[in-house]
Order: sequence, then C-alpha cells, then structure tokens
Amino acid sequence: MAEVLVLVDHVDGEVKKVTTELLTAARRIGEPSAVWVGDGAEEGAARLAEFGAAKVYVAPAELNDYVVAPTAELLAKLAQESSAAAVLVSATAANKEIAGRLAVKLGSGVLTDVVALDVDDSGPVAEHSVFGGSVVTHARVRTGVPVIAVRPNSIAAAPAETPGEAAREAVTVELSDAAKAARVVERVQQEQGERPELAEAAIVVSGGRGVGSEDFSVVENLADSLGAAVGASRAAVDSGWYPNQFQVGQTGKTVSPQLYIALGISGAIQHRAGMQTSNNIVAVNKDPEAPIFELSDFGVIGDLHKVAPQLTDEINRRK
Ligand code: FAD
Repeated sequence: MAEVLVLVDHVDGEVKKVTTELLTAARRIGEPSAVWVGDGAEEGAARLAEFGAAKVYVAPAELNDYVVAPTAELLAKLAQESSAAAVLVSATAANKEIAGRLAVKLGSGVLTDVVALDVDDSGPVAEHSVFGGSVVTHARVRTGVPVIAVRPNSIAAAPAETPGEAAREAVTVELSDAAKAARVVERVQQEQGERPELAEAAIVVSGGRGVGSEDFSVVENLADSLGAAVGASRAAVDSGWYPNQFQVGQTGKTVSPQLYIALGISGAIQHRAGMQTSNNIVAVNKDPEAPIFELSDFGVIGDLHKVAPQLTDEINRRK
C-alpha cells in the first residue's frame, strides 16, 4: 500500500486532535506515515500509532527556525523518496502556505480547506463546502502527488482497528538558501487562559450580537461552569466585543464539539458553516423564528441574560 504523509500538529509532545482526523482520512487512501518536525516525537508516537501511523518521520527542531519553507522542502523530499500517494496537512494559515509551496515543488496541485475526503480508483477526492455551506463541490488533483489541506474538525477521528507500533525514523533535509530566507525571530504565545482551545474543545459556548455589549461575562461564566471554550459570532467580533481568534464560522474557526451552545446568535449561514457538525446544539434566542432553531437539538426561547445565568448557577450547584 502506498504511503500517505501526514504532517503532525503538536504542542510540547502532545498530538493535536486535527492530526488524528488527518490520520483517519489517510487510512482510506493508503498507509499513513506521520511527519513530525521538532521535539517530542517520543511522547507523541503512541498516539499516532493509535490512529494508524505505521511510521513516524522525525525531523530536527531547527527546521522551525525558519518560516514554512524548510517544512515544504522536507515534505517534498519525503514524498519523492516514498512515492507517496498524497500529503495531508491541517488547513492552518502556515500549513496552507506549506501546501502551496510543496505542490509547486512536486509539480502537482493543492486542495485547501477540504471538509471531507473520499477515494476512488483514480485517488483522493476532496469535498469543499462553499458559499457558507450551501454548495458542496468535489475536486481531485490530476497530476502528481495530491497535496491536501483539511479543515480541523471536519472529519471524525477514529482509532485504527489494528494499530501498529509507529516506528520512528530520523530524517533531515539539506536546506536551500531560499528556505533560509525568512527566519523566525520571536514566538509569542497567544493568550489562551485556563480555557480549552476553541478548535479542540469538547464543549463550546458562543455569544452573538444578542449579548448586547462587550461584557461577555454571561457567555464566559457559562463556559467556565462547563469547562468549555468561548466562541463568538462575527457580529460580536466586528463590534469589538470579543477577539477575532474566537470567531466561529466560515471566516473564523470550524468547531465540532460534543456540545455547542449558541447564545444570542441568529444562525446565519456563514456562522453555521463553522459549527453545524457539532454533536448537540443548544440555542438560546428571544426570537422564536431565529434560523438557529432549525439546526438545534434543544432550543430555549428567551432572554439569554436571564436563561444563561440560571443555567450557570444550576450547573455550579450540581458540581
Ligand atoms: P444577528 O444576526 O444580529 O443575531 C442576533 C440574534 O440575537 C438574533 O437572532 C436575536 O433574536 C438574538 N437576540 C438579541 N437579543 C437577545 C437576548 N437578549 N437574548 C436572546 N437572544 C437575543 N458570521 C459568523 O458568525 N462567522 C463567520 O465566520 C462569518 N463569516 C462571514 C463571511 C462573509 C463573507 C459574510 C458576508 C458574512 C459572514 N458572517 C459570519 C456574518 C453573518 O452573515 C452574520 O451577519 C452573523 O453571523 C450574525 O451574527 P449574530 O447571529 O451574532 O447576529
């Protein structure tokens, strides 16, 4: 079976959820091989094996001293040497740049913001959700090794039925001068606080224009009672009520938690595009005709400033 390279997203040796999603998708195409750049592969290998990685290529942390280009050169080398059937990366801003550079090096094509992957006799078929989720398109790369950037939380991760060992293999690449042109001078950790990361959280509580002001404490308090991440609609972000890294939707993050609670969000198509695959959706909205109720499992018609604090108190009381 041909190898499928999966670029690993990791923090301090911990494999991010999106990588388990990519490995799950990769298993349908061929035999997944994880590509780990930096330290921590020893800690992460078991998790990668659990999701079907047969091999982990481990590249030195120095590649991360430069901006994106070295990883593209590394992946190009590995894809050529292993005659890979495809290369999968998560569709983050940096990885999409890696994907573009890689496709040029391989003389192939790139598909970004993919939301589902299938495979037929001619190779991977990528699904895109466009116009805010109202239209679904299918595309394939017809020449060379397909490079595919998949949106986090689009594919359900499932462990492999017969996981192996994921043997580690040290690899490196002779960097071109061009790859060293842009060096990283500083890394600044975005303020995350105590809450889980939005794209990875099992529960998300989001606030919209209905919150009514930059005082988002009604949303944050409910989130904290549940150990949830906080999200926001674009209307709330554009009003300056919440930072834009927390925006959920077409032009924000895609989330797919076990539970998504929407407070004062109407359910515009562009918001749905980022949360409609959540397992359970609860909406609180004072307008009974709000479109969010069409996709909600539970709906509360009411003022969020009354409903959410009561819910928060009750959850805290039961702890
Ligand atoms: P509104 O649509 O104004 O809804 C507010 C809701 O709150 C209403 O339903 C109202 O009944 C309810 N409400 C008001 N007061 C209360 C109260 N006290 N208690 C309970 N309910 C109350 N939007 C996103 O969210 N994410 C995106 O990524 C995104 N990308 C976009 C990309 C493009 C190209 C475009 C054109 C738009 C995009 N939008 C996005 C914007 C989107 O179209 C909507 O304008 C936006 O989602 C509306 O946000 P909202 O639901 O918070 O506000």
